[in-house]
Amino acid sequence: MQTSQKQNIEIYNSLSGKKEKFTPITEGYVGMYVCGPTVYSNVHLGNVRTFMSFDMIFRYLLHIGYKVRYVRNITDAGHLENDADVGEDKITKKARLEAIEPMEIVQRYTVDFHNVLNTFNFLPPSIEPTATGHIIEQIELIQTIIDNGFGYEVNGSVYFDVHKYNQTNDYGILSKRKLEDLIHNTRELDGQSDKKNPQDFALWKKAEPTHIMRWPSPWSDGFPGWHLECTAMSTKYLGEYFDIHGGGMDLKFPHHECEIAQNKAAKGKDPVKYWMHANMLELNGARMSKSTGNYINPSELLTGKNNIMSKAYSPSVVRFFMMQASYRSVLDLTDNGLLASEKGFNRLMEAVNGLETLTPSKESSKNTKETLAILKSKFYEAMNDDFNTPILISWLFEGVTIINKIKSVNETISKDDLKDFTALIHTFVFDILGLENNSASNTGTDKLSGAVDLLIKLRQEARANKDFAMSDKIRDELAAVGINLKDGKEGTTFSTN
Ligand SMILES: [Zn+2]
Repeated sequence: MQTSQKQNIEIYNSLSGKKEKFTPITEGYVGMYVCGPTVYSNVHLGNVRTFMSFDMIFRYLLHIGYKVRYVRNITDAGHLENDADVGEDKITKKARLEAIEPMEIVQRYTVDFHNVLNTFNFLPPSIEPTATGHIIEQIELIQTIIDNGFGYEVNGSVYFDVHKYNQTNDYGILSKRKLEDLIHNTRELDGQSDKKNPQDFALWKKAEPTHIMRWPSPWSDGFPGWHLECTAMSTKYLGEYFDIHGGGMDLKFPHHECEIAQNKAAKGKDPVKYWMHANMLELNGARMSKSTGNYINPSELLTGKNNIMSKAYSPSVVRFFMMQASYRSVLDLTDNGLLASEKGFNRLMEAVNGLETLTPSKESSKNTKETLAILKSKFYEAMNDDFNTPILISWLFEGVTIINKIKSVNETISKDDLKDFTALIHTFVFDILGLENNSASNTGTDKLSGAVDLLIKLRQEARANKDFAMSDKIRDELAAVGINLKDGKEGTTFSTN
């Protein structure tokens, strides 16, 4: 279901530090670039959260009718261990340690990345370019930056002249840093002696004789700097000025700051209208880190093979858990949090599946009609407010309440309203939040649910006829086989042991 109604979205722009009305550069079209993974190890759960946030944003933009070109790159060269342009290329290092080709590393972890994202039901981006596939574009970009006076060559490497750039531009505009403070806080590291200033960053690095990943260039056989690839690929596919650039909060500085500087130095303009940053994922209140052991990877979380969680969690439960927080908040992954999300997710799915078994009446009751209209506008309102998924989910649970009321015949719904309401719920739950109905394929569960709903109705009729012996008998015998009925304000629901 795609809406024909125009939505007014507000997006929190990291550049201005406030929510702004979203107006795409070209009406009807959105260009979105998200910094992808460096494929030298298994994808981190924190990265999964970042990419999931942008997957949800991509899904919503598509739903409200935009033609979206979503570019998410693969960094398969040039990402050094240290942001100060020292240390080894991450992929080369891993290849050396494992005594295999760098491209074997790239292949292995690109496949892992795609597998993990498929497990979590991600939509593929429109284009997934690689750094090594765009070396020519990067060399051309470096040449332009040199020609414009913002890059200089030393011993076969090329650096970006941050001080020169800052004379006419604002280096630090995105991360709200001042060059003077950076100068004050930068330690001089070994291996930086080629640079005019420690704040300068590499556009091209000359390869050491042992460095396998190397390409010829006007300056040396070498490889491009990490920041450069995103400028080259984003502008190649989205134009010199595009709508949305996203990434994890940790990329704001220096990576995204450098992207702005490179684009302004090369093309004379800001590359991005809206900068969006997804916040960090913590584990039990602390930063996730392999070295401290406070770490869990996606497959450990999904299989339950770990010492941190009490059980395995399904991909949709993990997705639901992540969607229960705003993409801009720090999210703390805990066993209790996941258990609560699992309960909530099951309750939501039970209600969504229950929609199929509702019997329409001739007309919708007044309350049903009013509630459905409110829900529809609240769903959109939540998503239009900077993609506020936790608020959306709280309104979805208002939807669960009305579904249960209709189920227990406290309210009625007409055939047409049921059809519209089912489409609306499916759109937000499956198409936009990207959840999967784990029990839908399990027809046994559906049949059970249908049978129990029938017994609930019979019990209600018995109570209406004051046949309490029959009503209790139904409840007790269901309990004896592990099906517990719960009478609430919104009607009777059931759960299984
Ligand atoms: Zn990037």
